[in-house]
Amino acid sequence: MGQLEVSVDKERCVASQSCITIAPKAFALGSDGKSSARAPEAEKLETLREAAEMCPTSAIVVEEGESEDEMSE
Ligand code: SF4
Repeated sequence: MGQLEVSVDKERCVASQSCITIAPKAFALGSDGKSSARAPEAEKLETLREAAEMCPTSAIVVEEGESEDEMSE
């Protein structure tokens, strides 16, 4: 499985919370009232994609890494 990257553009987020309704494990509202990606791997890719599609301002970017590179810290 590729590496999954989900990000929320806070400039665009209007806090509609649609993403949180669709993918509650992957998104949460921060103290700034904007959504942020938390644990994208906890939701299915199709759920993440749906959340991105349902976002009224297209603030969510879902990227699926192609590389099999292992992350090392
Ligand atoms: S669906 Fe989009 S605008 Fe709504 S809270 Fe999520 S990121 Fe923000």
